Amino acid sequence: MAATIIDGKAIAEQIRAEVRDAAAALRRDRGVTPGLAFILVGDNPASQVYVRSKGKACEEMGFHSVTERLPAEAREEEVLALIARFNADPLVHGILVQLPLPAHVNEQRVIEAIDDRKDVDGFHPVNVGRLVLGQRALVPCTPAGVQQLLVRSGNDPGGKHVVVVGRSMIVGKPVANLLVQKAKGANAVVTVAHTGARDIAEHTRRADIVVAAIGRAEAITGDMLKPGCVVIDVGINRIPDPSSRTGTRLVGDVHFASAAAVASAITPVPGGVGPMTIAMLMRNTLTAAEGWLRR
Ligand code: NAP
Repeated sequence: MAATIIDGKAIAEQIRAEVRDAAAALRRDRGVTPGLAFILVGDNPASQVYVRSKGKACEEMGFHSVTERLPAEAREEEVLALIARFNADPLVHGILVQLPLPAHVNEQRVIEAIDDRKDVDGFHPVNVGRLVLGQRALVPCTPAGVQQLLVRSGNDPGGKHVVVVGRSMIVGKPVANLLVQKAKGANAVVTVAHTGARDIAEHTRRADIVVAAIGRAEAITGDMLKPGCVVIDVGINRIPDPSSRTGTRLVGDVHFASAAAVASAITPVPGGVGPMTIAMLMRNTLTAAEGWLRR
């Protein structure tokens, strides 16, 4: 069986176009321009690249965006003071603190300082709790992107057995919490596997849908999958490749060639889940600006 490729770039572009249109309508009808504030602490090169591309996406959406940079040695109080300023700024609807933070800054304290109605990363305990309770929440971007990839590629998870491999707060747990809800685009039977599992393959072989969020290059292979299943590969790993110009290449947590020979549909890396994350960040910012989270 040759799997269909789920084109994350095309689906992300669809969502970006929807957000662009909705943002234009919000501006026209209510005079509100969605605003997103970025806080970048230190000079981690990957973080710089991420913030730049998120800022560029804001521009494309017609959003207002502002980036505040602090040096790596900035005190936690300085980060908290910036958050307080953006919490109080009516032109800022979303606040994104680019992670990871330097080790001397308490990440959880920083996340909890963000007004939960502006928490576009969806990491604040209030949003985590709302998601679990099945209430309206700002849902973490990558998990929300996984759900959209499934629904928009014609692989609605309703009634399916989804096996999520990985239980991080950024990907695994929120994916499971999202897909298990009694809701449209969810309603799946969900298993969460992790390093505590005796044998990961024992679980993945029973899955209609596998979501791999492990952080181990090509760890899930075709022999671990049920024929005809759908594979969503969240992993992004750089491995050595002497045949490439740069000497490295990106791969997922799934061994693409062997998995694609067994699955009915699969996301590539790059070009699968990756482009969805920024698209969902734009959507979360729009949602926050629309104001239904006000109380
Ligand atoms: P993480 O925080 O390192 O969590 C990895 C999870 O996988 C943990 O729960 C860990 O189990 C589990 N795990 C590790 N090795 C395993 C194994 N051999 N068998 C079973 N479970 C195993 O990683 P993450 O932040 O969730 O990210 C996962 C992957 O997604 C990474 O490759 C990351 O780069 C990628 N990612 C992509 C995007 C995107 O936009 N596409 C966004 C975020 C992350 P324990 O809990 O037991 O340790």
